[in-house]
Amino acid sequence: CGIVGYIGHRQAYPIIMKGLQRLEYRGYDSAGIALYDGKNLNLSKTKGKVADLKTRLEQEIPTTGTLGIGHTRWATHGEPNDVNSHPHYSNSGNLVIIHNGIIENYEPLKKELIKRGYTFTSDTDTEVLVNLIEEVKKSTGEKLGKSVQIALNQVVGAYAIAVFDKTKPDEIIVARLGSPLAIGVGEDEFFIASDASPFIEYTNNAIYLEDEEMAIIRRGREVRIRKIKDDSLVSPYIQELQL
Ligand code: GLU
Repeated sequence: CGIVGYIGHRQAYPIIMKGLQRLEYRGYDSAGIALYDGKNLNLSKTKGKVADLKTRLEQEIPTTGTLGIGHTRWATHGEPNDVNSHPHYSNSGNLVIIHNGIIENYEPLKKELIKRGYTFTSDTDTEVLVNLIEEVKKSTGEKLGKSVQIALNQVVGAYAIAVFDKTKPDEIIVARLGSPLAIGVGEDEFFIASDASPFIEYTNNAIYLEDEEMAIIRRGREVRIRKIKDDSLVSPYIQELQL
């Protein structure tokens, strides 16, 4: 029930881990983090508390990398267990997603994807969404941002998501409808979170995404915000947080 992400020049892991701890008040049953270390995408997730994740992750994967996403889950589709915890991979292993909310029409979407040869390891609606994005990307040849947008226009439900492609690790795409999502804007670095508490000590400049907006966050670039429905550009409103 919380999301955190980082892309920039610092090590992402301590920021994300501390961020998940700060979002614990939102309630959750599982937690997970994916980190890109410049070569590999490393992922660790578990049913249980953020403290359990910390112990497990530090034994399981390297904690290095300047890009990462983390999640605390409040299960809606699929029981709380390790496999259903987020992040979730797409079938190719290239896309990785975290999601708060519900994809209400995941069943027909899942059936269609299975017909096209996709397989699923979890019972979540979220794994359907990441594979839908992958299928759109493959069949249209579009970039990740456009593919996310097309996929979200086929979705009924509520979401705050963050997704990236390990073959293009300079970019994170985020979007929201019905679940909160804030972007912290630093010097050549960006933070993503359900609220500003995970990044408040790094920057007091924040963009709060509105419903039906998505943002393309790229290393060393300005954030681009678009309306999911009609693709119109929105000029980012950077709010100064009062400390
Ligand atoms: N619907 C997703 C799941 O059950 C996300 C739940 C959440 O908001 O944490 O995995």
